Amino acid sequence: MGGLFRFMASLSKNRNLTINTLTRHLPENLTQYIIYHELAHAKHGKKHNQTFWNTIRKKHPNHNALEKDLLAYWFLIQKTETANQKRKPKTT
Ligand SMILES: [Zn+2]
Repeated sequence: MGGLFRFMASLSKNRNLTINTLTRHLPENLTQYIIYHELAHAKHGKKHNQTFWNTIRKKHPNHNALEKDLLAYWFLIQKTETANQKRKPKTT
């Protein structure tokens, strides 16, 4: 999941959280989870170790289901965005 999360939200060295604009298509609870996931990385480092998941489970005990939903949504969003880009007229 690491790559997908980093694409959707990333934390810079000076702790600015950047959220990919595509996440606007996601349900609120999934966006919340992405943000919480990234903040947990900021606190515990880049690895998905036991401490990291314990932190995640405190707020999102159902994180497995959320990640499954996230993958499904992400797949749909990317498909939709690609279709939209094809429909745009050429500006050259
Ligand atoms: Zn992660």
